[in-house]
Amino acid sequence: MTKKVVISFPDGEASRPLIYELIKKYDIMVSIIKADIDGGRRGKLVLELDSDSDHIAQAIDFMQKSGVDVSPLEKKISFDDSKCVSCGACTSACPSGALSIGAPDWKLRFQPDKCVVCKLCITACPLKLFKIEFAD
Ligand code: SF4
Ligand code: SF4
Repeated sequence: MTKKVVISFPDGEASRPLIYELIKKYDIMVSIIKADIDGGRRGKLVLELDSDSDHIAQAIDFMQKSGVDVSPLEKKISFDDSKCVSCGACTSACPSGALSIGAPDWKLRFQPDKCVVCKLCITACPLKLFKIEFAD
């Protein structure tokens, strides 16, 4: 299974080798989706954890017990496709490939499973068709 989580480091803890510990101790494949670290002191990471559910639960427990705040990535992007004119402005802004335009119809295609909730499409769309929502 995969699980996306937001990791918040307390002050002075952001340089610790957390990713190494998750891989080594809990056999988890870790993808860094976003990183916002302030000079190695504090910050946030958005991670995708890929392993079986027991290992993921143990890893989250380990992080929480060691003072790192872990919360599920609970936001998602929604999109009003009825008004889209397929201008492509959002596809240029999207870093993950969740938005694309191509043959045969050259209409915008949105793949929510690829979205990393960076929110760049919200400002990129001239018609303001994207909005952020809490996930189910
Ligand atoms: S939020 Fe970011 S990743 Fe998701 S569709 Fe918009 S630009 Fe792409
Ligand atoms: S920028 Fe807006 S109108 Fe243009 S393709 Fe993207 S969603 Fe559609």
